[in-house]
Amino acid sequence: MTSPSAGTSAVALKQLRFSYRAGRDVIAIDNLVIDRGETVFLHGPSGSGKTTLLGILAGVLQATSGEVRVLGTDFATLSSGARDAFRARHLGYVFQMFNLIPYLPVRENILLPIRLDASRRARLGNVSLDAAVRDIAKQLDIVELLDAPIAELSVGQQQRVAAARALIGAPEVIIADEPTSALDTDRREQFLQLLFASCKTAGATLVFVSHDHTLMPLFSRTVELGTINTAATRPLRD
Ligand code: ADP
Ligand code: MG
Repeated sequence: MTSPSAGTSAVALKQLRFSYRAGRDVIAIDNLVIDRGETVFLHGPSGSGKTTLLGILAGVLQATSGEVRVLGTDFATLSSGARDAFRARHLGYVFQMFNLIPYLPVRENILLPIRLDASRRARLGNVSLDAAVRDIAKQLDIVELLDAPIAELSVGQQQRVAAARALIGAPEVIIADEPTSALDTDRREQFLQLLFASCKTAGATLVFVSHDHTLMPLFSRTVELGTINTAATRPLRD
């Protein structure tokens, strides 16, 4: 499979159009480049296409026209199976609806990307799978839930399991769709700290969707959907 080269941007979109129905573009982005290590706050009203754009970046949805490059790889050159493999290797995705596997316990849900991709497993180094899961679970305060079935979890707990699954094995790009919506203030704070620390340690790029304006200053840049070509650039955080 294509191996992403260093020095390329995390995301590069050109003349991107996406429609679920012919004649009605949900996404129209002429040019958007996200550099590696950027933390991007993706903002826009409900229905503006935020979840759709994340689906395109993750290779779940295919552009209707235009160019989508993630880590230098042109998605048009990948089959749908190759896009799935690319996602398992390079991306951590916290879905809006979590997409946890209901019949697997928490531990196996967290391990899923590691099971799907050997190089993501290799990034854990000499650490055992059990130790890796416990470590990330500890940081998200879900250690006591590792053997629990997903069905017994609260929404906030599911959100933290989804985050653990996205972060394990240090993927280069983290995509998060309203990941803090079901967390109380303390947990939200804890979750964001872990997310930013993980991205910083791994040099990962973060694309984060939220309705919550108060989170905006935490990010290096805000991209407004709808007016994406004139997106405001904010100063880097530190
Ligand atoms: P957001 O995440 O910003 O709320 P979405 O990306 O979910 O927006 O949706 C953007 C638009 O695309 C909305 O008008 C929505 O109704 C439509 N849409 C989303 N998913 C589908 C789908 N699977 N089929 C048809 N239309 C869809
Ligand atoms: Mg959405």
